[in-house]
Amino acid sequence: MKKLLRIHQSSGMHWVGNGFPVRSVIEYNGLGRELSPFLLLDYAAPYQFPPGNERRGVTGHPHKGFETVTVAYQGELEHRDSSGGGGKIGAGDVQWMTAGNGIVHEEFHSQDFTRKGGTLQMVQLWVNLRAKDKSAKPGYQTLLNAQIPKVLLAQDAGTVRVIAGEYGGRKGTAKTFTPINLWDVNLRAGKSAELPLPDGHTTTFLVLSGEVVVNGERDAREGDLAIFARTGDSIAVKAKMDAKLLVIDGEPIDEAIVAYGPFVMNTQEEIQQAVRDYQSGRMGHIGS
Ligand code: MN
Repeated sequence: MKKLLRIHQSSGMHWVGNGFPVRSVIEYNGLGRELSPFLLLDYAAPYQFPPGNERRGVTGHPHKGFETVTVAYQGELEHRDSSGGGGKIGAGDVQWMTAGNGIVHEEFHSQDFTRKGGTLQMVQLWVNLRAKDKSAKPGYQTLLNAQIPKVLLAQDAGTVRVIAGEYGGRKGTAKTFTPINLWDVNLRAGKSAELPLPDGHTTTFLVLSGEVVVNGERDAREGDLAIFARTGDSIAVKAKMDAKLLVIDGEPIDEAIVAYGPFVMNTQEEIQQAVRDYQSGRMGHIGS
């Protein structure tokens, strides 16, 4: 069993652009130092948007050196990027974008969601790349809910959606550069599960709703992040009420992290180069 190190609480809410009311759960100059390869985790708790005409979100901006993973739980989002990627994701869908060598993208509420209004709930996770993969070609994977395997937990305890990695012999849909397990776990009130996770991996989970007892020791509620030791091969959760967890697990990348805004590299020189590349248009343009 992986020892529970602590329960971390998210920050207060702030806006990303005018579309995403998020709480910072992991920041790259904070917990991201400890939770490699995970650099950043923003959680947008359920938020009600009125019907409108102006599309809310974040206009064109760059990324380089890592991947952004966006999981939509409620609402609908649209994305376009300079690699020619783009798409719309709704409840249960996931965008897995490889910034790699440099990408420019925009992130907005979909036209439809803007017009009708409704509840938005989502997570964005930044996954670091090894130095040798930071120059990878930018790319974009849309993982639709229907393509993501859903595995039943023993004793009718709930389900595991395998976004990346493997659970119960089912492989996740996402292609990743390093070993990652990203699972949506739904646990029914009063039920327990022991989830196998690799020894040596960074292991953590975010509570999206409900309340659980972790390793029989501590309670974790909505917005809490449970952080485990790398040593050990499982974690245990028991639901005090129906609960949803995002389990985040991966092989650590033991390399220097030098981050500046939307760029995460290994050295200061590489950051300066990234800034120059973006400013001179070498990361491309949306729609080109
Ligand atoms: Mn972005």
